[in-house]
This record gives sequence, structure tokens and C-alpha cells, in this order.
Amino acid sequence: MYGVITCPKCGTVQGADLSHARIGCARCQHKIDLSRAIVHFSTDSPKELAEAVRRYAGLKRGQDIPFPVPRGTGRCRAGRGTVESTICELGRDKGDFTARDLSEILEIDGDDLDELIEELLAAGIMYETGPGTYRLT
Ligand SMILES: [Zn+2]
Repeated sequence: MYGVITCPKCGTVQGADLSHARIGCARCQHKIDLSRAIVHFSTDSPKELAEAVRRYAGLKRGQDIPFPVPRGTGRCRAGRGTVESTICELGRDKGDFTARDLSEILEIDGDDLDELIEELLAAGIMYETGPGTYRLT
């Protein structure tokens, strides 16, 4: 059984395998005690779990979600807020936008781009409207 939980330390919404006693937070590495964690949603399907994580992450939007910044590359010079405002402008101008658009506007690609997209989806800043196409939430 899988569940959607919130890290009590950093507030990151994430999926967990509830058969474990505790898991490490995906973001801050805090050891989350699953017997005490509030499970927002539970399912046997990993696919449903992924969708539910996105949904709950979206619900928490605006409640102090740490904004993702690509790690360890130094290539993306934009800081917190700047990345978000850039994406917001892109979304406002174009409506739907693609991974390619994000790559060009943020000057990142490859794994960094994939990782950023995953984090943006998890943080509920944007959602997938089709394969490789996104829209602001
Ligand atoms: Zn955490």
C-alpha cells in the first residue's frame, strides 16, 4: 500500500511505501515516522499515487513550498522567485508551453531540465496537459 504524506519538517508532499516503518524525506532527508504521519490518500497503484501526490502538492500551493532550483550545475543563474516569475511570464504569454520552451528560457537541459520539471509539477506550479506540454496551475 502506498500513501501520500507531508514531511513534518519541511512540508514537502510526497509518496511513501506504507509497508515501511519510516522513510527519508525526498527533499530534506528528515526521517519520517510513517506510523505517525498523516496519510492524505492511500492506494495500491503507483500511478494513482503519483497523481495524488501532484494533486495534494497543488492544494498546498502558496503555503511556503520551497521553490526548486536545479542543483549542482551553476548553469542556472536565476535564484528563487526569478525562475518562478520567468515561468509565470512564459505561461502568461503562451498559455501552454513545452519542455523545449523551459529549456530555452531557463538555459538548462538534460537531467537538470527533467528534474526541474518534476519538481515544478510536484510543487503544483504547473501541470501536464499532454506529452511534454505544460500549463500553469
Ligand atoms: Zn522534509
